[in-house]
Parts: sequence; C-alpha cells; structure tokens
Amino acid sequence: MNIHEYQAKEIFEKFGVPTPNSGVASTAEEAIEIADRIGGRVVVKAQVHAGGRGKAGGVKLVESSKQAGQLTEELIGTHLVTNQTGPTGVPIEKVMIAETLDIKDELYLSIVIDGDLGAPVVMASSEGGMDIEEVAATTPEKIFRVIADPLIGLSPYHARDLAIALEVPSESIRATTKLIIDLYKVFIENDCSLVEVNPLVVTKDNAIVALDAKINLEDDALFRHPELANLIDPNQLDPLEQRAYKSDLAYVKLSGGRVGCMVNGAGLAMATMDITKNAGADPANFLDIGGSANQERIEEAFKIIVDDTDVEIVLVNLFAGIARSDVVAAGIVAAAAETAAKMPLVVSMRGTNAKEGIEILTDSDLDITVVTDLAGAADVLQQKLLELERSN
Ligand code: GDP
Ligand code: MN
Repeated sequence: MNIHEYQAKEIFEKFGVPTPNSGVASTAEEAIEIADRIGGRVVVKAQVHAGGRGKAGGVKLVESSKQAGQLTEELIGTHLVTNQTGPTGVPIEKVMIAETLDIKDELYLSIVIDGDLGAPVVMASSEGGMDIEEVAATTPEKIFRVIADPLIGLSPYHARDLAIALEVPSESIRATTKLIIDLYKVFIENDCSLVEVNPLVVTKDNAIVALDAKINLEDDALFRHPELANLIDPNQLDPLEQRAYKSDLAYVKLSGGRVGCMVNGAGLAMATMDITKNAGADPANFLDIGGSANQERIEEAFKIIVDDTDVEIVLVNLFAGIARSDVVAAGIVAAAAETAAKMPLVVSMRGTNAKEGIEILTDSDLDITVVTDLAGAADVLQQKLLELERSN
C-alpha cells in the first residue's frame, strides 16, 4: 500500500529522521496560514501517489504566502500527469507547504526487500534528485548497496559505510549515519516494502535533511498496523483498481498484454500467468475472485476485466471450492449481457458444480471455448489470438 508524502514524513519525524518544516493544506486559506507560519517563501508540493512530480509541475517554489495560496488554488481539483502515472493522471486533493532549504547537494537513499536474498537492502548514491533508474542504467557503480541481516539488523558500521558512499562532508557523517539507522527502524518497525528518500539533501550549513519521503507498506503486514491501514487513499488508485478495492477483489493491472484473467486463488493466478505467457500472449491484468464470491461480485469482477481497454480476450481459470462454478458462470453471463464488449472467452472450470457452470456458459450466446485443463487453455488462447490478429 502506498501512502502520501506528508504521511510518510510524519512517520519519519516520529523516528527522528529530519525533514523540512511543513504542513498540509487542501484550501488556499490553509496554504496561506502554513506559509505565513513558515515565513512566506515556501515550496508547494502536490500530494499524489506518484513520483516525478518535480518535472510535471507538481513541485514549485513560491516567494510569498499569497503565491502559495494562489498555486494551491490552481492545483487542488486538477489531475497531475507524471512519467509514473497513466495518461489521466492522479487527482490532487492536498498539497504540502514546506520550508525551502538552501540545497548544496542532492543524494539518494532507499531501503527495499530483495526477494532473492530474503533481506532488506539499503541503497545509497551521491547522484540523487534525478531519476535513479537512469543512474542504475548508465552508471550502476554509483549506487552503493548494503544487505542488512534480517535478524541482526543494519550494523552501525554498515550505516557509516553508506554515509561515506553518499560523499557527505566529513562533519555530517555522524548525523548521516544516525539518519540511516533511524530510517532502517522506520522500514522494519512499520513493515515497509519500500522506504525512499530522493533527494536526501545536504544544506549550505551541512545539515542532512530528507527533502522527499516515500513509503510503501507491505499489504500482508497491515493487520499488525491498523493505524497505518487507515492511511489508505482510494482516490489515488486507478479507476478499475478503485472498483476492485470497493468490491474487495484483488485486481492487478499489468502492462503490455491483451489477455484478461479471472481466477480464484493467488497460486492459480500465478499458474495462469505462466500459461498465458507460454501461449505467446501477455496478460493485461489478473483478477482474483477469492473464495467466497457471490454472483454480484463475479459480475463486477468480469466488468472490471473487460473495462480494461487492453483486454481482447478473457481467460477464466476456476478451481471451484467454496466459490461455486454455476454462480461464477451465471455472473459472467449476466455481466457479459450488460457490457458492449463481445470478446472471446476461454474457460476452464473444475471443482464444485463445474458441470452446471459449463452448461450455463455453453447455453449462453457468448463466444465461449471450454477447455478441461491448463495446457488445453494455452492452445486455445494461442489459436484465438491468431484469429484476432488476422481479423484486425
Ligand atoms: P518528486 O519529483 O515527485 O520526486 O518530488 P521531490 O520532492 O523529490 O522534489 C523534486 C525536486 O524539487 C527536488 O529534487 C528538488 O530539486 C526540488 N525541491 C524540492 N523542495 C525544494 C526546496 O525546498 N528547495 C529547493 N531549492 N528545491 C527543492
Ligand atoms: Mn523525489
């Protein structure tokens, strides 16, 4: 789960990580009040779940509280499109009004879980501020990595090595080391999947400050942090993700594919991705209807899948247990009748009421191919995709 910069910054402060003096506003009046308190000259930052705000006009320096109010007025209610959002962008409902700093140097610091190593990795680079992806691609030697022991944690000497790799002035090494240790505590104690500070800045008087704050929380650990789970902002999700969230469906949009996938269960979702890939087609999304789906939720699930404009063909792969095949089939038929899209469906149903489910589907006027196993589904998918290509 993603949270806003102003929320991440509050967590940073709780753990002793220095951040600029700031406040959050959703009206011009609030913005002016905060800017007056800070001293007039401030930076106005759109609060959206996307990076790249600076280049997209979502981060601007202003000279007075009056200008801060004007800019806030202009930004609130609009959508910000950055290189990390879709073409419709993300809505700006709040802005952060922050103290401006005299920046001497912009650095990069982040902590992520490395799945292969099964450990947190701390990354530091003296090349901060700009796209770290570009640094990684063109000058990978400028990114210094330390693997933390999940049990022992990040050792102080490791934090010091990282501070040195950041090339901070020698008088700032001690403060930087402490900041890295505190940031590691933020990561561990909140069950984060990502903590990123880009840029971490060195000011003219050699103070080290987190100018930007990004935190991703591990969804599977949110139950341990109910106060963090409350930080969710569903308005920042894309419209299809929002609908899935409201219906308690697990929907993941994938880029570049044409096959919409309806499955039940995470393991089956993974296997289904493999089948789709093996058939020479990339999945456009997958939607996990879970175990206890009723017909209404199935209908909404199917509509979400076909409302994804990338989807040209739907693969339904069901291993029915608690979720009954006939209920799923009835949901698909009802939803398909309401949507304009008449796309081919490839269906594999096994388990509870599979026979009834398949009957409901084959009795409908949908373009349905029923298969009995996953390999069969792959063959049909491949053939259907070829047919689609020829008719296009
Ligand atoms: P992002 O583009 O979404 O990652 O937003 P950031 O918070 O990282 O801000 C983008 C850029 O704006 C930073 O890299 C800085 O160069 C600049 N910036 C942000 N706050 C300040 C500030 O207080 N003073 C100055 N001089 N520049 C700032
Ligand atoms: Mn940034």
